[in-house]
Amino acid sequence: QLQASAQLATTSTSYPTTHEVPEVINTHNFIDNKFIPSKTSQWIDLHDPATNNLVTRVPQSTSEELTAAVDSAEKAFPAWKATSVLHRQGIMFKYVALIRENWDRLAASITLEQGKTFADARGDVLRGLQVAETACGITTQITGEVLEVAKDMETRSYREPLGVVAAICPFNFPAMIPLWTIPIATVTGNTCVIKPSERDPGATMILAELAAQAGFPEGVINIVHGAAKTVDFILDEPRIKAISFVGSNKAGEYIYSRGSANGKRVQANLGAKNHCAVLPDCNKNHALNAITGAAFGAAGQRCMALSTLVLVGETKEWAPQIAERAKALSMNGGFEKGADLGPVISPQAKERIEGLIASAEKEGATILLDGRGQKPEKYPNGNWVGPTIIANVTPDMTCYKEEIFGPVLVCLNVPTLDDAIALINKNEYGNGVACFTTNGATATRFQKEVEAGQVGINVPIPVPLPMFSFTGNKKSVAGGGANTFYGKPGIQFYTQQKTVTSFWSGADAGSSKASVNMPTQS
Ligand code: NAD
Repeated sequence: QLQASAQLATTSTSYPTTHEVPEVINTHNFIDNKFIPSKTSQWIDLHDPATNNLVTRVPQSTSEELTAAVDSAEKAFPAWKATSVLHRQGIMFKYVALIRENWDRLAASITLEQGKTFADARGDVLRGLQVAETACGITTQITGEVLEVAKDMETRSYREPLGVVAAICPFNFPAMIPLWTIPIATVTGNTCVIKPSERDPGATMILAELAAQAGFPEGVINIVHGAAKTVDFILDEPRIKAISFVGSNKAGEYIYSRGSANGKRVQANLGAKNHCAVLPDCNKNHALNAITGAAFGAAGQRCMALSTLVLVGETKEWAPQIAERAKALSMNGGFEKGADLGPVISPQAKERIEGLIASAEKEGATILLDGRGQKPEKYPNGNWVGPTIIANVTPDMTCYKEEIFGPVLVCLNVPTLDDAIALINKNEYGNGVACFTTNGATATRFQKEVEAGQVGINVPIPVPLPMFSFTGNKKSVAGGGANTFYGKPGIQFYTQQKTVTSFWSGADAGSSKASVNMPTQS
């Protein structure tokens, strides 16, 4: 029953392997462990970015449906909270196994709806799966503390779930980012309402189906759909205690302030402009390959895409060699063998990216490699922008100031390491940076002085694995980055502490006079 109503009627052994869509099936809400067709009159058409063929229609869930999802999560919470941590861990082990079993199916949904290559989509799933795998260690991660604070008296701390929590997800990692929330929120005893991106909800729907199969009770995981109106419902619904948001600054700053004003915990990861300083003493071949892959992989639509190259000293001569490597990449439909990058998400994104390339040209930069107008023969109707390299960029140019979020690498030249660090630190974003050098002293100075939250030394995309936390800073996070995703801070975000101080003594108090002073316990 679950699979029959799942998106695209896929199963662990049958899922799309081409861009042909045999049948357009509406995306459903997922409430009480059931896929429920929406009664809305407002639908968002979802097109395959490689073909612009209609894949599915995503509902703008109605107020009744949104309320039903929260009702379901609220109803499920007391019993779910009361389960033992070992019980929840057991379900998480099953969930992990099912995600692994359905790995290709999840990836196929991502390639069809989001456009990234199948191999890259498998990476998207894996990085989320690793969060779920790490969540299986909850039994040692959630232990509290205890101290005997006075004779016969001790204080213990516990971590308790918050209640109903919500996630609002972006389009660019349709499996990984919902999995930044689902495993940690549920294994710590919360119930949740997830709003996937309206541009590619398919992977989340499969994750919901697998969650039910793994044994999550009805109401622990609910999925609703829509755009700004659905988000406003989540922001204003008093029964939702916490919101995890990942996406653009425009939406995220609004969500952070309205969610916080409504008394909710909010964690919000936002946009980026990730710089990479290349030093003349680096291992050149490794650096050039790593930079090319990190700039153009996923068509540059990763929040940690390496979009801004800072060429130090003589390395400014290396830009054409990066262009050679970029030219050799195959841009194609994501299911095609050997495809290195797929299309960008929408015709509007393509237009925006091309506009930014045009602005660079107008403002005096050099277009070293121009991806405008390129398209693979087999997919003439997709949203294609080929790898583009813009050289001789200066910080006042629009292409430097804005997050491009496409396969475009902007290159700036500076004379020294000091200049590179100063340039990077002046940028308002602080998601990721990288430095390529073989000199330990240079690397150490760079990592200490640079003001970005995630630093790669000879590593182009330093996204921390889930035993650490995702630690962007500056304008790449809202609220000063106090609530970071996954790792220990992730568990803290989804739990509140309770401390219990108890006194057990067999002895009589020995006096009939009450003490009125503040107890000092010393
Ligand atoms: P987006 O902000 O357009 O959408 C994200 C979510 O917010 C979606 O669910 C969408 O429905 C909702 N939303 C959009 N506009 C809204 C509005 N005006 N009011 C309320 N809700 C709104 O982001 P996107 O285009 O899906 O994702 C790309 C962005 O996400 C990039 O800026 C990228 O850097 C960022 N991102 C950041 C990280 C990170 O960890 N820092 C990770 C992935 C993506």
